[in-house]
Amino acid sequence: MTPSSSCSRPLVAVIGGGPAGLMAAEQLAQAGLRVALYDAMPSVGRKFLLAGVGGMNITHSEPAEAFVGRYREAAPWVGEWLRQLDGPALRDWIHGLGIETFVGSSGRVFPTDMKAAPLLRAWLKRLRDSGVQFHTRHRWQGWDARQQLSFITPDGRPRQVNADAVVLALGGGSWARLGSDGSWTALLRERGIAVRELLPTNCGFTANWSQYLRQRFAGQPLKQVIARFTDLDGQPHERRGECILTEQGLEGSLIYALSAPLREQIQRQGHAVLQLDLAPDRSHAQLAALLAQPRKGQSLGNILRKRAGLDALKSALLHECLDKSQLTDAEQLAGGIKALSVRLLGTRPLDEAISSAGGVMAQALDQRLMLRQLPGVFCAGEMLDWEAPTGGYLLTACFASGLVAARGVVDWLGS
Ligand SMILES: Cc1cc2nc3c(=O)[nH]c(=O)nc-3n(C[C@H](O)[C@H](O)[C@H](O)COP(=O)(O)OP(=O)(O)OC[C@H]3O[C@@H](n4cnc5c(N)ncnc54)[C@H](O)[C@@H]3O)c2cc1C
Repeated sequence: MTPSSSCSRPLVAVIGGGPAGLMAAEQLAQAGLRVALYDAMPSVGRKFLLAGVGGMNITHSEPAEAFVGRYREAAPWVGEWLRQLDGPALRDWIHGLGIETFVGSSGRVFPTDMKAAPLLRAWLKRLRDSGVQFHTRHRWQGWDARQQLSFITPDGRPRQVNADAVVLALGGGSWARLGSDGSWTALLRERGIAVRELLPTNCGFTANWSQYLRQRFAGQPLKQVIARFTDLDGQPHERRGECILTEQGLEGSLIYALSAPLREQIQRQGHAVLQLDLAPDRSHAQLAALLAQPRKGQSLGNILRKRAGLDALKSALLHECLDKSQLTDAEQLAGGIKALSVRLLGTRPLDEAISSAGGVMAQALDQRLMLRQLPGVFCAGEMLDWEAPTGGYLLTACFASGLVAARGVVDWLGS
């Protein structure tokens, strides 16, 4: 790094004002360092605010072991960060901002008012009071020939910054209009940093629906179903919940939760087959017996509604995925209701996803989250190569890695 000017306190540049960057900035300021935070957007925390729109799920209350397991292959790595800031510690930190939290019935933790804006407001005030300098509309463009940080500023002119250390917290690649567009991947790869391709996760999937299904049912919820799926390692996955049938396929919390293994299977095999149980509270035998009774002139739709409790969308999905002989045989129809095979062909684009998989690989960083090839440059947040389902796990890892990177900076500057 090119050291900053003569001022005795070292200057740390934090680039990216999402939860990871803001947490890093707070820790650095508390450690007595000068902190300049840069963000490409006119204001910071835009994705954090969006996450608050449908109810800000900030962490989860489940026991540590289960919590860490949510990070799949990256569990040992993310587990190190969570040892420094886990769910309970994050809740304490939120309470310290004057925001109360509660645990929902699913174990998810929310601010009492479910919103992100009051939390962000209180936090930004505390950051400003502690001396963090904010430079918005500053898009980082890499390093110049003298190894200075290079930004494009609001007036379109370049600005070079010398800092004693840098924390990059540039986010993933989804919802680019909120600031994180993943353009940093090229900047780091140019410097020889190992970056895994950013891929959608917690995302929708495509299916080849008929025109009838699309036109008649797109946008409708598929309520109370169980989705089952066996991944490439033969590991079964099962989840009960709700999803939405879209023009292109399926999306929603039930599908998001299975998105990582589904995506991997599609990458490997070109498709994945999801088994949907459309009537989870009825057994195959019950359904088969009810469906075998004489129809008495009723349509199949009516029979499915009255005897199997299936709404019009579930009924239409059966017609979509089963052939005529299966629809007319009670045994086979009951089998279809209990395990309807839906063929998924791809993920929806990264930009639509809740979060990104991929990013700066663990091997490129030391334990302090400093890039081995660029001493003094640290990384945090969603730009690192981990993924997790929704449920507060995303934000918790972003906060925790921001804290770890900041402590790493303090350690590095001290040594
Ligand atoms: C719709 C939606 C709902 C969500 N809900 C939840 C939820 O309930 N719970 C949960 O845990 N997670 C949720 N998430 C995910 C969570 O919001 C993200 O994982 C988290 O914001 C990532 O934090 P971050 O600090 O790593 O990156 P970001 O929040 O993406 O921040 C990165 C910042 O870097 C800036 N930046 C990027 N490139 C540059 C550049 N070149 N120069 C300067 N600045 C740059 C961006 O402008 C941005 O401000 C949700 C996400 C979405 C999209």
